[in-house]
Amino acid sequence: MADYQLFINGEYVDAQSGETFTTHDPATGEAIGEIAKAGREDSVRAIEAARKAFDEGPWPKMSGAERGAKINEIADAIEAKAEKFSEMEARDGGGTIKKAMFADVPGAVGAFRWFAKLAIEEADEVEVPGTPFPPSQNWVRYEPHGVTTGIIPWNFPFIMAAWKLGPALAAGNCAVLKPASFTSITALMLGEVFQEVDLPPGVANVVAGPGGTCGEELAVNPLVDKTAFTGSTEVGRRIMQLASGTVKPVTLELGGKSANIVLDDADLDLAAACVLWGTFFHNGQVCESGTRALVHKSIYDEFLSLLVDRAGKIVIGNQMDFNTDLGPLVSRSQVETVERYVALGRDEVGEPICGGHRPEGLADGLDAAAFYTPTIFAGVPNSAKIAQEEIFGPVLSVIPYETEDEAIAIANDSIYGLAGGVQSSNLERARSVANRMRTGTVWINDYHLISPERPFGGYKQSGIGRELGLNGLRAYQQVK
Ligand code: NAD
Repeated sequence: MADYQLFINGEYVDAQSGETFTTHDPATGEAIGEIAKAGREDSVRAIEAARKAFDEGPWPKMSGAERGAKINEIADAIEAKAEKFSEMEARDGGGTIKKAMFADVPGAVGAFRWFAKLAIEEADEVEVPGTPFPPSQNWVRYEPHGVTTGIIPWNFPFIMAAWKLGPALAAGNCAVLKPASFTSITALMLGEVFQEVDLPPGVANVVAGPGGTCGEELAVNPLVDKTAFTGSTEVGRRIMQLASGTVKPVTLELGGKSANIVLDDADLDLAAACVLWGTFFHNGQVCESGTRALVHKSIYDEFLSLLVDRAGKIVIGNQMDFNTDLGPLVSRSQVETVERYVALGRDEVGEPICGGHRPEGLADGLDAAAFYTPTIFAGVPNSAKIAQEEIFGPVLSVIPYETEDEAIAIANDSIYGLAGGVQSSNLERARSVANRMRTGTVWINDYHLISPERPFGGYKQSGIGRELGLNGLRAYQQVK
């Protein structure tokens, strides 16, 4: 029996093949669990359970208030196990324990609570007055799609699970979730929570396994009514193709290469802090990371020295230590990807002004092959590959500019449009720059702040649709 089993139809089960895969703590390479490895047939089993739960079970027939109350129970039960969820989230994915305790677990709880509130408060039927065809009457109804599937990446596995299951369940759908293979544990642990709160069988199912089999089934299966995917743009395209066979609606949250524009009137200390936080938080393994800093020429040299000075103080180490700012990357292969991009950056623009290597002097037991130092390239042309392609590691490209129009043009010169930042002491000016950036989110004098009440998602190749906010609920509803 696997240490962590699939959760299908209200029960924990092994994969039908009996196969498992091993998950590791990336910092030490230590094996931390055997996970049931779902194949296509297990996804089919989970989809059929969700179909039955939707077509015959109580969940879609319950009132929004009843569903909301149950989703609040889910949030309560997660909070009661917050320590365990935080520990496993940090160990499995390599994010710091600080991030797990203050962002991942409360972020997931907050998302469930937000969608519970919407289920309770948002009317699912609204009368439209003033019919042009008296004496007829008209109503608009918001109804669940039916069976929804969610496929999520490894960078924020627990929050992403809540972003998929929260709105799906609030709207009355029955759902199947697939976490990424590097980080399946906390999503599978949600099954315990669903059992504890007596969620009807089949309403929420979790399968872990390879994207090419177990994942593809969730997008292609004709019993599925809607698919939501978060991950790379490349796989997002594939999901669209698979879903097109049955014309399934898709929500896609994909990659990014966000620009953080530092205007000449910015408070430079604050701006340097925002640029570093915006890039290096979670080792840059964040879809909306501000990995291009656009800096006005009049403040350029001073700003670079502030960046280097502050970057040198970032503490790298064991992710389970509360004083650590940056733990390991998710895997050795991710470090190798970063190394390839840093080598490319050396060819394109020369030596980085800081970082550019694995850290030295790590504590005993930590594997340096899983870590990378925060790396900054200066004087980067926006056409360079390191400024155009998503690296998903701790690498910042600093790009000088002369006029505001030029900065906006550079920011928008990207296939992506997920997020961005503007650093300025003049809010009105910052907002006018933000309004011209073609992205789904812009932070002013801050970065990375996301809350469930506000919609999140991308323009261009960063995705389709929005999660969170009221938009996030509507994405899981048909309109009749
Ligand atoms: P990935 O695209 O490789 O994998 C994401 C998920 O898709 C995993 O669960 C994987 O198993 C599955 N998958 C892979 N191939 C599949 C296929 N053919 N069919 C179905 N499922 C398949 O991404 P990743 O490496 O896990 O995560 C990093 C990427 O995710 C980055 O590009 C990042 O920008 C993006 N991301 C985006 C957001 C956002 O909200 N926009 C958030 C987090 C991560």
